[in-house]
Amino acid sequence: MQEFKNRIKLLVKLLVENRPAVVFTGAGMSTASGIPDFRSKDGLWSKVDPFKVASIDALRRNPATFYEFYKERLSMLLRAHPNEGHKILGRLEKAGLIQAIITQNIDGLHQKGGSTRVIELHGNMREAHCMRCGKGISSMKLLRMLDSENVPYCDCGGIYKVDVVLFGELLPEVALLEAMELTRGGYLWIVLGSSLVVMPAADLPRQAFLNGSPIVIVNREPTYLDEYATILFREDIVDVLRALEEELYAQGYIS
Ligand code: ZN
Repeated sequence: MQEFKNRIKLLVKLLVENRPAVVFTGAGMSTASGIPDFRSKDGLWSKVDPFKVASIDALRRNPATFYEFYKERLSMLLRAHPNEGHKILGRLEKAGLIQAIITQNIDGLHQKGGSTRVIELHGNMREAHCMRCGKGISSMKLLRMLDSENVPYCDCGGIYKVDVVLFGELLPEVALLEAMELTRGGYLWIVLGSSLVVMPAADLPRQAFLNGSPIVIVNREPTYLDEYATILFREDIVDVLRALEEELYAQGYIS
């Protein structure tokens, strides 16, 4: 692997030649905001079976247990702040260097960091909807309901479900189609903090590559696409983005 500084220079060249870029993010993007990666080696999903506590089946069969687990997760996610990496991505979008962000995260931190075009493949936790009548409420309201009840019931008798894609559910079609469209645009694809294991989301960068897009991967752990990446970073995401922004500034591409 080339020296860090040289790879950053190469990244600037690649980005400038292929701008705007599509950025694909996973759990590693948000660990600097204090959100644990449940899929990591020592993460929650190595100890607890997600299908027992966080699946659509779990919610239907035993909503009280589901929400006992989910309440904590929801309040943690709602309190989280965007990190420097999210903010840099927001600034690069404003500078015309990023076309869109496709994320596997549900924390909404890209939007809080200033990005405006964010495709959320696994839904989000800003709102919840009744599974029977479809009525929507904010997640804040849902949390308040969970302070006094074990199960958040709608007036119609149905149960509210957060707008997150749960285990056992399909990805939202509109988001997936929008993301697939971006695999055909000839953009540079930058993967940030995704180990590219959760399908079908993880197949998107491969599709882009097959359609002629160069790909750059920034991830601590190896991914199945590493051999196709033009540049590979094992360094910290925030460090890479900070160095990228500094180099873009030094070369006069942003002010
Ligand atoms: Zn209802």
